[in-house]
Amino acid sequence: MKKVAISACLLGEKCRYDATDNHNDVLLEKLKDAELIPFCPEDHAFGSPRPTMDLIKTETGVRAISNETGQDLSGPVEAYAKDFFDTHTDIDLFIGKDRSPSCGVCSARVYSEAKVLLSENEAGLMAKEAKKRGIGSIDAEAYIARGGFTHHVKL
Ligand code: SF4
Repeated sequence: MKKVAISACLLGEKCRYDATDNHNDVLLEKLKDAELIPFCPEDHAFGSPRPTMDLIKTETGVRAISNETGQDLSGPVEAYAKDFFDTHTDIDLFIGKDRSPSCGVCSARVYSEAKVLLSENEAGLMAKEAKKRGIGSIDAEAYIARGGFTHHVKL
């Protein structure tokens, strides 16, 4: 059975910033024969509900910055990601929630420090770690559009 690491909110966990979920029946139907291993770095690090954060291009690289306090929140998310992939070493595929600064695979938005949109096809912090480790990774919407496991593209 294929092992799929997947954003927990897509499975119905109420772990979004506003304590809601992104439950997706179409996606889950396509994954019914896979072993799903859920993750949510932001809920783990900050709880739900929580203030939102955006990816900002800074002098020290792209960082996740709190929209409430301006604090750099990247550290706990990156630490969770490392620990998750150190623990689950046999992941066949990573499916991330589109546009999330943590989980988006090719859909996260990056802004300048003045909040000008620089890009909307970047990897979020957890997806970046998956890619760094050579794990095939795809956004949920793209996975649905491609019709499931047999057509996923290893990035
Ligand atoms: S997109 Fe990622 S960080 Fe955001 S709620 Fe879903 S699993 Fe958690």
